[in-house]
Amino acid sequence: MSDDATPKTKSPLAGLNLTFLEPAEGAQTAPAAPPRQTSGTSVDAHVVIVGSGPAGLTAAIYAARANLQPVVIGGIVGGGQLMITSDVENYPGFPDGVQGPELMGFFRAQAERFGARIVDADVDRVELGSRPFRLWAEGVEYRAQAVIVATGAEAIWLGIESETRLRGRGVSACATCDGFFFRDKEIAVVGGGDSALEEALYLTRFASKVHLIHRRDAFRGSKIMQDRAATHPKVELHLNRTIEEVLGADHVEALRLGKTDEPGEERLAIQGLFVAIGHRPNVAVFRDWLEMDEKGYLRNGGATTASNIDGVFVAGDVDDHRYRQAVTAAGEGCRAAIDAERWLEAQEAEAEKTEAGAVTVR
Ligand code: NAP
Repeated sequence: MSDDATPKTKSPLAGLNLTFLEPAEGAQTAPAAPPRQTSGTSVDAHVVIVGSGPAGLTAAIYAARANLQPVVIGGIVGGGQLMITSDVENYPGFPDGVQGPELMGFFRAQAERFGARIVDADVDRVELGSRPFRLWAEGVEYRAQAVIVATGAEAIWLGIESETRLRGRGVSACATCDGFFFRDKEIAVVGGGDSALEEALYLTRFASKVHLIHRRDAFRGSKIMQDRAATHPKVELHLNRTIEEVLGADHVEALRLGKTDEPGEERLAIQGLFVAIGHRPNVAVFRDWLEMDEKGYLRNGGATTASNIDGVFVAGDVDDHRYRQAVTAAGEGCRAAIDAERWLEAQEAEAEKTEAGAVTVR
């Protein structure tokens, strides 16, 4: 326990170590000037990166090393989903695995080492209609020549009251974080996609039995995962079942299941419930500006990370419902920073050409 009981309030500019300089002429198109704070509540930057998961912080490392002095608006709870992940065993370079929060600490330290400024605040509003792009977070306005959106995605919950009440008391959306607590216990996983199948199989390492509950009679996950789940001695499938209620006063004791193929309900005694019904991309403030696919994920150009707005790039789980891995997010963060750098260079070259043309005419 900390010996300092004083509550700490976070400054909106916490972690922002900006030089106070006068605004330069022509900042709209010239990326060469350093980022600067132009008043107590506004900040100018070449690149603002929104999000501080693997995509955002990798973009920050690359942008900082390209001398773009990026500002990362990283969220009040920064670090992305790895902050709630314990063992990460598939991130290359860590043969013995690494803890999620520790890995994100490394990302952050590396970005800061090259001069990225990380602000622990949430973006409340954006204006992407003209440049400089404007973003607001905790009362501070950020003006950017280029923006990289790397806001990630978060778990979808069933949305029933008992699930919310018992979250952290046996209800979880993260098997890798919480599976360990269910050693030799009987648990359930709900969902019919790859996440649910993967989590059910993963949880067999700890649980004495895993009940996999799906609302239809067919899974949508990959065939190989379906076969593995169906043949695993510790996994029992419950098809055509919905979770009506999670039962238990202060910890999970059972599920009340509805039936979609016949009338009636049933009770299933379990001690833990893992919800694996998909993820929702964090697009709220960008919804009015950036194009999304039919699943609500931001669209990028495919070959590049460019969005439908020139100068705005997207990276990581916010545009990726397929891979959703730390390493793929980091890779896309790298691509976004390179795309932003090249785009800014092209803008600068264009501005120089226009200026030279104007001089010749005179
Ligand atoms: P998903 O494919 O969208 O599947 C979500 C599942 O949850 C569906 O089966 C859906 O049922 C069910 N569901 C949704 N809302 C529900 C509700 N309110 N109540 C009960 N069930 C509900 O999501 P995902 O499994 O997270 O996978 C997302 C993507 O990541 C996929 O492309 C997947 O292939 C990929 N992924 C890959 C791997 C891997 O390759 N190792 C691992 C994980 C995820 P319905 O089927 O009835 O719609």
